[in-house]
Amino acid sequence: MLAAVCLSAVLAGCAAPAAPAGPKAVPAPEANAAPEANAAPAAPDADHAGAPPLAEEANSAEVVARQEAAAQHWGLERPPLKAPPRPATKPELTPVQGVKLADGRPPVVFRVPTDDKVVFLTVDDGDEKDPEFSRMAADLGIPLSTYVSDYLAREDYGYFRDLHAQGVEINNHTINHRNLKVLDYDTQREEICTQQDQLEKQIGVRPRLFRPPYGEYNDDTLRAAASCGVQAVPMWNEEAFPDHMEWRYDDRKLHPGDIILTHFRGTDIWKASMPDLLRKVVNDVTAQGFALARLDDYL
Ligand SMILES: [Zn+2]
Repeated sequence: MLAAVCLSAVLAGCAAPAAPAGPKAVPAPEANAAPEANAAPAAPDADHAGAPPLAEEANSAEVVARQEAAAQHWGLERPPLKAPPRPATKPELTPVQGVKLADGRPPVVFRVPTDDKVVFLTVDDGDEKDPEFSRMAADLGIPLSTYVSDYLAREDYGYFRDLHAQGVEINNHTINHRNLKVLDYDTQREEICTQQDQLEKQIGVRPRLFRPPYGEYNDDTLRAAASCGVQAVPMWNEEAFPDHMEWRYDDRKLHPGDIILTHFRGTDIWKASMPDLLRKVVNDVTAQGFALARLDDYL
């Protein structure tokens, strides 16, 4: 069934990464000036008039040296590429290129429409809670977007609170990780909306994004999600494992705006650690000339 969903996604436009038709998401010079909480250092103010602008600072020898040291420490082939400034406005979603729109429903997004050479790393479920993974992502400045299921997270929501404190958005992946498609509307609503409430209580922020388990959903899913504040439903194109990437496109390459899925999984399942996984993803993304960017800045 999942294969069918993925195939339909491909047929819906994911497989045709032609020149984007939508308006360009042109980064504005002031893009760094209004970071969200936790997102980036505050904009320079009058007290720091003598300090170099952020862009200049980011290229300073000291910063480069720090990035190279972090890359070496975590065993990367080279430092990750820096994402461009976040777009001044989020890209307009049109019903092409892996975006499905319907009135009154949150958009379902397989690929974010952008010309920026960025891709997004999303991490699901919440079983493995490895502090090394959090540290590695923070050290390297790797943005993550997570989708957490209560039945796995509830034993230690503190792990996800800590991730949130370092700028990671904690999003909704239902209470029990059931296949929503076979459930009636009320049960789907319970699975989705109770997790909205739970994450708001545990993390302190009501999630904006929701991803259905197994990528399985129907119209009731979207209707239920809309009823409790979900603004978008990001899906994925590639799935990352510690030793390989599963590709959705025939060309087996990344494309601007691709969403990569992976999971909080440990050595019991993967025979590799979360840092091993992140190392593989960052090396692959960098080798193809892409930067990992914050999904929240684009969606
Ligand atoms: Zn899942």
